Amino acid sequence: MRNLRQKNLQTDVLIIGSGAAGIRAAIEARRHGVDVLIVSKSPVGMANSTAISLGGLRGSFTDTGEIGNPVIHFQETVSGGKFLNNQRLVQILANEGPSRILELQKFDIPIQVRPSTAFVISSRPPAGLILTRKLLVYARKVGVKTLGNVMVMELIKLGDTIVGALGIHLITHNLLAISSKATVLATGGAGAIYQRTDNPAGTTGDGYALAYQVDANLTGMEFVQFLPVIAEAKIPPVLITDWFIESIKRFDKNVLQNAVGESILERHGLLEETVFRDNLIIAIGKELHEGRGVDGSVLLDLTKIPKAAWKTSGQLRYVQELLIRSKINLRQKQLKIAPAAHFFMGGIKIHENCWTGIPGLFSAGESAGGFHGANRLGGNALTQTLVSGARAGENAAQYAKTSGVPCTFTSSIEEKGKEIDTYLNRKINLDCEPRRIKEEIKIVMYHYVGAVRSGRGLNRALSALRQIRKEKLPKTYARNFSQLWDIFELGNMLLIAEIVAQSAMFRTESRGAHYRVDYPQRDDAKWMKNIIVSKENDRMIVRYEPVVTLN
Ligand SMILES: Cc1cc2nc3c(=O)[nH]c(=O)nc-3n(C[C@H](O)[C@H](O)[C@H](O)COP(=O)(O)OP(=O)(O)OC[C@H]3O[C@@H](n4cnc5c(N)ncnc54)[C@H](O)[C@@H]3O)c2cc1C
Repeated sequence: MRNLRQKNLQTDVLIIGSGAAGIRAAIEARRHGVDVLIVSKSPVGMANSTAISLGGLRGSFTDTGEIGNPVIHFQETVSGGKFLNNQRLVQILANEGPSRILELQKFDIPIQVRPSTAFVISSRPPAGLILTRKLLVYARKVGVKTLGNVMVMELIKLGDTIVGALGIHLITHNLLAISSKATVLATGGAGAIYQRTDNPAGTTGDGYALAYQVDANLTGMEFVQFLPVIAEAKIPPVLITDWFIESIKRFDKNVLQNAVGESILERHGLLEETVFRDNLIIAIGKELHEGRGVDGSVLLDLTKIPKAAWKTSGQLRYVQELLIRSKINLRQKQLKIAPAAHFFMGGIKIHENCWTGIPGLFSAGESAGGFHGANRLGGNALTQTLVSGARAGENAAQYAKTSGVPCTFTSSIEEKGKEIDTYLNRKINLDCEPRRIKEEIKIVMYHYVGAVRSGRGLNRALSALRQIRKEKLPKTYARNFSQLWDIFELGNMLLIAEIVAQSAMFRTESRGAHYRVDYPQRDDAKWMKNIIVSKENDRMIVRYEPVVTLN
């Protein structure tokens, strides 16, 4: 193994990921008296979706900020998810969400509570950074160990049990063999398999791929939430939320326009209907699909909003504030906006205790599927990270207490070393440079498996992805450490892209975030089902299962 030193680490509970789910899981596992190590591809607590999030959390509270009745939160989440949610998980989310949110104050995180939401208070965006920073301070105070810049490449399975992971350290170049009695995947989503996303670049679906490779089931992977973001050169891809559009449409029906200046809200019935994430993005996606876009975008036009509204609307002021550094004045300039991959509703199938069904392996946060069904409501993701994080941490700790001494896995390390040597020894072939292949995958996914899909487009995507797997993947190479890192991300991206496209092809209807122009209607008779993807004898199997309900 060239240039790589091996280092062995041991822990009771290994947490992979340092977003809110991972850190919250770590705190809970420590509360149960076990050793906990967080490893994270990003610097710990940074450069993940949590750290750049808006800090909005959904939960039932009374007018006076006490814990409220969870039934409405449950009903809204299930109907927002178009009835494909695992209802037992939603019940847990609704019941435990408010106390997990209020508990943030114990970790010194300031929050403002309203009847159905709470916000992390921050003097400047992104509020999510306060969440990860303060959780991390608390976690370290109670003895959680952390190691950033480590990419987990593989989970180690002994018999049917996960006994640890192999990682690689971006800075020291160490090959890490981490043995653990229990492991929690809190690796976030996969927005970065798309050309346009508001997720950090490292959100490449690693946890989904790691789980799939050790025979866990993935559920609902066809449901990718897209949201409009600003799509102008040299301006950050600021999120234009459904609630922002809903709150400002009363000031001017033309706030969203197509290439010929028509009101998109009017054309798609969104002046009368409430604007939600799914109907907003489908309206924009259809305009683009039917050729009424401007450079793949539509126009956000706030120039006709009356002056007085800028004084009264906090939402308007908030979006303007996000653009101040870019010297953009929204009162004077139209901006292009385009769909960006924002959130994966699907993920690793889990039981109520966050167990994946594979002994020793748990999952929490965006890497875990089932809570959100076909479409996620605003604020539910962060609440889910806290609820599932705490559950995963507790159950992983309990499992670790009953399982034996952590083991070593010499042969897996040797095999990984040989694999790395192969990449380092391959000939340079610029067409197969890993970053270039990554870009190809992103473009294929954005164009054919995006916000609006068709059978034809999905077929094209699948054949392009298969071609990359057959012709380019075997020739990809590394000349330096960062290319090596890219190769491992690339493998995960390709696998997850194929899984999303296959699941989208399988679901011959439109529901929630999944819209197919060739099957534009929701088909309850045929499709009140969850699509499950798993590996059997090295082949990808796509099948369906009934939705988990409370009865
Ligand atoms: C711009 C933006 C705004 C948002 N605002 C809100 C909001 O206001 N309210 C809301 O509810 N939701 C919001 N969301 C969604 C929400 O922030 C995310 O779903 C949530 O933070 C995910 O948390 P997580 O802990 O599961 O994953 P993340 O925070 O994404 O963390 C994943 C971690 O896993 C690590 N990791 C990944 N792969 C590996 C690997 N192979 N090896 C080691 N480590 C790995 C990453 O480095 C990272 O540290 C927003 C999302 C975005 C992008």
